[in-house]
Amino acid sequence: MEYVQVLIAGGGMAGLSAAIWCERLGLSCVLIEKTDRLGGQLTQIRNHIWDLPPRTYADGPALLGELLAHDALKNVSIRCGEELAAIDPDRRTVTTNRRTYHPDWLIIATGVSHNQIPALAHSPHVLQPWFSTTAEAETVSGMDVAVIGGGDRAAESACNLARHARSVHLLVRSNHLRARRQWTEQLSRLPSLTILWETEVVDCREEAGKAILTLRSARADTPAALAVDRILPRIGVHGNSDSVKKALGADDHGYLLTDPYQQTEGAGWVYAIGDVANGAEYASLALAAGQAMKAVKHISLQTKEQ
Ligand SMILES: Cc1cc2nc3c(=O)[nH]c(=O)nc-3n(C[C@H](O)[C@H](O)[C@H](O)COP(=O)(O)OP(=O)(O)OC[C@H]3O[C@@H](n4cnc5c(N)ncnc54)[C@H](O)[C@@H]3O)c2cc1C
Repeated sequence: MEYVQVLIAGGGMAGLSAAIWCERLGLSCVLIEKTDRLGGQLTQIRNHIWDLPPRTYADGPALLGELLAHDALKNVSIRCGEELAAIDPDRRTVTTNRRTYHPDWLIIATGVSHNQIPALAHSPHVLQPWFSTTAEAETVSGMDVAVIGGGDRAAESACNLARHARSVHLLVRSNHLRARRQWTEQLSRLPSLTILWETEVVDCREEAGKAILTLRSARADTPAALAVDRILPRIGVHGNSDSVKKALGADDHGYLLTDPYQQTEGAGWVYAIGDVANGAEYASLALAAGQAMKAVKHISLQTKEQ
């Protein structure tokens, strides 16, 4: 069993910021990252980042490059390919796919994953979750596209793609959109766009280079099948907390529940920061970095008291 003062799980904006703050406040830390590279969602951001004051960045990789060059990270022990697998709140142990730790403190910064539609798991026509409907919209020029979802991201994506695609079908599971008026008003003005209400995809097969979606709907006027060239699911995300949520407490979307200092409900020595604690509405780089500061500062103050 390895002792560490602060163990950080997750190498995205939140985890890396926490490591920098550990250095700043004189705490030693080890950072584990499940994949073989650091950055998390930063590696997927293709848009211009202008809401992390005072700097702006061309995209996520530009920001990540600067972040990884930060002097404080040079002293941090970073272990890629190592995944948080379980915790024992009472024994204060953390198990990964590689070893068992006995940390004084654990900071969970494992971010979110996109929700999946099982019927689409093997279709080559599905666009990646991080497909940018602004920067990459022209790649669907002249195509038939299905966008799935009823929130802001689905509505925005459908609007952006309808300007280039031959047709866009927006498949909405309920009978209304959750998206803001900004997007719903635009949707109604786009002639190439059709909304299929109360509709779900139950199967997907390949035929003559197209994806044939089998649809299930409460509406009589919804077609039983839809042939498309590209499919863009935009059905939200869930917190990466499967291995710990039972022990620590999470909501229905896997977001870990915390107090104002980012301490989890289930164990005072475990903190959760960034997207895994924030929910989609508040997911942001600024908050991830800010919560890292708050959690590490709280740990530092408690360490001094002990
Ligand atoms: C396309 C896109 C554009 C965006 N644009 C902006 C923007 O302009 N401005 C803005 O403020 N925000 C933006 N965001 C949101 C922002 O990127 C996130 O809020 C932020 O990156 C969250 O950081 P995080 O560290 O909490 O999570 P993540 O970046 O998701 O990092 C979590 C890390 O933990 C790792 N991990 C997962 N499970 C485990 C485990 N069990 N053990 C160890 N490691 C694990 C993951 O591999 C990942 O590296 C955008 C997001 C996307 C996808």
